[in-house]
Amino acid sequence: TEKQADVVVIGGGGAGLAAAVSAHQNGASVIVLEKMPRVGGNTMISGASYNAVDPKRQEAQGIEDSVDKHFQQTYEGGDKLGNPELIRILVDNAYPTIEWLESMGMEFKDTLHTVLGGLWPRAHAPVEPLGTGFINTYMNYIKENNTEMEVLVNTEATELIMENNKVIGVKAKSPDGELILKSNNGVIIATGGFAGNVEMRDEYNKNWPSLTNLKTTNHPGATGDGLAMAKAIGANLIDMEQIQLLPMGDPNTGSLSGNIEQGVENRIFVNKSGNRFVDEGARRDVMTKALFEQENSFMWVILDSHSYPTGDVRNHFNESIDELVTEGRAYKADTLEDLAKQIGINPENLVEAVNKFNSCVETGKTDEFGRTLYQFKIDTAPFYAGARVPTVHHTMGGIQINTSAQVLDNNGKVIPGLYAAGEVTGGIHGTNRLGGNALADISVFGKIAGENAAKNNQ
Ligand code: ADP
Repeated sequence: TEKQADVVVIGGGGAGLAAAVSAHQNGASVIVLEKMPRVGGNTMISGASYNAVDPKRQEAQGIEDSVDKHFQQTYEGGDKLGNPELIRILVDNAYPTIEWLESMGMEFKDTLHTVLGGLWPRAHAPVEPLGTGFINTYMNYIKENNTEMEVLVNTEATELIMENNKVIGVKAKSPDGELILKSNNGVIIATGGFAGNVEMRDEYNKNWPSLTNLKTTNHPGATGDGLAMAKAIGANLIDMEQIQLLPMGDPNTGSLSGNIEQGVENRIFVNKSGNRFVDEGARRDVMTKALFEQENSFMWVILDSHSYPTGDVRNHFNESIDELVTEGRAYKADTLEDLAKQIGINPENLVEAVNKFNSCVETGKTDEFGRTLYQFKIDTAPFYAGARVPTVHHTMGGIQINTSAQVLDNNGKVIPGLYAAGEVTGGIHGTNRLGGNALADISVFGKIAGENAAKNNQ
C-alpha cells in the first residue's frame, strides 16, 4: 500500500508529535508513524520537568535567572562538547515554546523547581500527571485536524527512500503488511534514543562499567531504529559514546517511578551503611559514578514530611507516598532510628548524617561533599526512605543536525528532505544532559523541524 503526505514523521513521542503539529500549522498534511500500540514515548513516563527561563513565574518566586545562565549551565554542564549554536536555539526558544503549548491549551503549574541534575530552579511541571499534558495537547490538535493529519500506530518505519540523493519517503511494516509513505516536502526522524537497546549500548559505551545488566528508565521502543536508518543513507552520527545514567532507578525495573524525591533541595542519599557519599545536587554523571562505588551500587533516598505534608501527596510520577509505602516501595517511620531499622541500615550513622546535613541547612554553608542546595531541614516526622540504583536514562549522541533541524551527512552537507528532532539527535547536551533540558529540547526542535519540513520545497 502507498500513502502520501507533505510531511512524514517517524516516531510519535514528544518530539515527533510537536513536529507533526507544527508542520500542520505551517500548511502541511502530515502522517505520523508510531511502532508501538500507542503514542507518547518517554514523555508519557517521565517526570516531565521542562527548563525555561520564565520572567513571570520566576519573578513571583524570587528566582534570579537569565537565558545566558541557562546557556552557560547547559554548555558547561555538557563539558563544552555540545554545539553552542544549537544550545542557543534551545535556550532562546524554551520559553516561547512553553507559550506555544499554552496557546494550544496546555497548563503548567505556577511554581518552578530544581530537577535532579538540573542545577537551577527553572523547571516547569505540567498540571496533568507525568508527560500526559504534552501528549494530550498534541493529540487533541491532531484530532481536530484529522482531515489533514493521521497517526498510524503499530507501524514501524524500516528504511528511508532516496531518489536523486534526496529523501522522498519511508518504508514501514504495518499490521496490514508493507507500507510505502511518500513525502512531498520532507521526512522527520523522531524515533528517540537507544537506552533500551542493550547491544547498541554495549557497542558504544566507553565511559561506564559494563551496562549489559543495567535496566533503563525508557519505554521499550527506545531501540535506536532512527539512528540505523539515518546512518544507512549517510547521515553523520556524533557523540554516540555519551550515554547518561541516573542514580534513580527502581531496583526491580530500572524505571523512575517510585522515586520519592520531590525537589533536589530537600533530600539526601545514603548508602547501605547509612552514610552520605555525594553532593546530591551534583551533575547526574557525578552522582551515578559515586553510586557505583557504594556497596551493591545501591542507595536510599531519605526525606521527611516537608516533601509529603500529607500521605496523599503525589510524587512526579503520580504516585502518592501512602500508596508507595503500602506497596512496599517506600518506607515510613516516626523516627529516623525506626526508619533505619526498617531498611536495615545503621541507625547511628543515619542520625549523624541527617544531623550534619541539618546543620548545613542552618548555616547554608557548602558541606563536605560540595553541596550548596538546601531548603528545609530533615527534622519533621514522618520520615521516608526509598531504594534506588543506577539506570540507563538518555543517549546524548545521535544524528547531527543544523539549527534548522536538517540532517547533515559525513561532510557536513544537508541531506535534502531529511530532518531530525529529539533524543535521536546529537550535539546539544554534550557529555551530560541537564535534568529538565530534554522536554525543552524535544519540544523546541520538534517545532522547528516541523516548520522547516513544511516549508521545504527543494
Ligand atoms: P523523543 O523524546 O525524542 O520524542 P521518545 O523515545 O520519547 O523520543 O519517542 C520516540 C518514539 O518513536 C517512541 O514512541 C517510539 O516507539 C517511536 N519509534 C521508535 N522507532 C520507531 C520506528 N522504527 N518506527 C516508528 N516509530 C518508532
